Order: sequence, then C-alpha cells, then structure tokens
Amino acid sequence: MNKIIEKIIPQPAAPGMVGDGFRVYNYIPGANVPQQRISPFLLLDFNAEVDFPPSEHLRGVDVHPHKGFETVTISYKGSVAHHDSAGNSGIINPGDVQWMTAGAGILHKEYHEKEYSKKGGTFEMVQLWVNLPKKHKQTQPHYQAITKNQMGKLELPENQGVVNVIAGAYNGISGPAQTYSPVNVFDIKLKKGASTHTTLPAGYNTAILVINGSANINGQKAAEHNFVLFSNEGEEIDIKANEDTVLLLLSGEPLNEPIVSYGPFVMNTQEEIVQAIRDFQSGKYGVLD
Ligand code: MN
Repeated sequence: MNKIIEKIIPQPAAPGMVGDGFRVYNYIPGANVPQQRISPFLLLDFNAEVDFPPSEHLRGVDVHPHKGFETVTISYKGSVAHHDSAGNSGIINPGDVQWMTAGAGILHKEYHEKEYSKKGGTFEMVQLWVNLPKKHKQTQPHYQAITKNQMGKLELPENQGVVNVIAGAYNGISGPAQTYSPVNVFDIKLKKGASTHTTLPAGYNTAILVINGSANINGQKAAEHNFVLFSNEGEEIDIKANEDTVLLLLSGEPLNEPIVSYGPFVMNTQEEIVQAIRDFQSGKYGVLD
C-alpha cells in the first residue's frame, strides 16, 4: 500500500538569517510539523539556492553550544568550514555531509569556507537536527565527516539519476552514517521523466523536501521547495520527476520520549535543560575563540 500523504506544506513565506551566513527557510519545527510529530527529527533549515557576493569577511555563525542531539549539515552548493571546542575542524564541500553528534555538549562555529567566501557564488545547504535517544544524550561529542564518494549509491539505469544514501538503506543500498536510532536520509537526484520506488516502514515518520525541480509523489504533485509529510499509513513511495529534480527524503523511527528544547539544548526534562544551561555557563563544554 502506498504511503498516504498527510499534507504538502509550501515553502515558508520568508527566510531568516542564521548568523550572517545562512539564509534559511525553517520547515521543522513549526505549527505544521511539531517536533514530536516528526521525531526523531527536531529541526530542518533549508538554505535554498542563493548567491552570496564575494567577501573577505567569513559569513557564518560564531561560537555557540549544542547538547543532546546531532546536527547534520548537507552541502549542495558552496562550502562550509567549522571549528569546535574539542579541537576538531573541517570543510563541508558540495556533496559532502557532516554528521556531528553534540551529545554531552560542545561549542562550535560554522562559516563560509575561505576560498568560497572570497569568490562568492551559489550556496545551497540543509541543516537537519536529529534527536538522540535519552540513553545516548550524554555520549561524548564526535563527528562523521562523510564525503561525496563515501555515500551509498543507487544508480538508476540509463543515467536517469542517482540516490545517495547518507543514512539507513535505500532498496538494499546502505549509507555510511552511524546513527543512534533507525534513521534514513536520502539525497535523491532524478532526471526529467525518471522514476524510483522504495518501501519504508509505515510507523516511521517520513517526509520529502523538494530541493529543486518538481515531482509526482504517490500521484500528487510536489512543487519546488514543498515539504511532503506522510501519515503513518502505508509503506510504498513512488516518485516521478517532472523535470530535473533533487529531493531530500527523511524517515525515522519515532523515539516516543519527552522533548524539552531550549534553543541549542534538547533534553527530556526541564531540570535537564536548567542543568545544560548551567554546564554551558560554567564552561563545561570547553573553550573556543
Ligand atoms: Mn551549530
């Protein structure tokens, strides 16, 4: 049985700036998609394609904390650099994904990579927050720097497209990301007229963001930048691209645990939030200039 589409949510009316480097449309959380409804996903910010002019100043977000979840940065166009309080740093180039497990708490900063910044140009990026199960919230912070060539790849016949499997498995092809609960994240690229089909558990919270192009998804038209939210009925998804199309498919087993979030801290109780803020203020997440 096909997955039932619960609603197709249009692109939010206006973007917001995260620092001075990320011009994002926020799809999760919100009235349309509360965090508990789309668990384990907590946040989806989409920097739809935009041109940044050349800049000597590195645009971005200065030092800030995260605790209790994972941040997943997907670069489509443009490059992002990051540094953290544990001494890690790296660059996320187009096609790459950085999967950061903030866990017990970390400070980091994220900004346009130097060479990209100097030249300026097209920028297209997603940041996704994935919740950690209660028993893993205190895990030591760490990264998975997943490069383009490490993705699980399902090539469609006759160059009709490719599914890059970031996490989970698509039609038997597994992705490299290690996750703390069952999570599927797929970068689906289809040529005009191409189609693909997959099956995901009915109980998993599942959605598709149309990054570029447009597609027919289980018979309904999803336009550019639409967010397609499936109900928890049915397993099958049929996608047919109406033009060259890029889709981000998210699917995960709901954690079914309380969510108490305060900005960059996401815990299970108010007491844990108070403690998280105290730990941040007393320097327990380390130091970063
Ligand atoms: Mn961050």
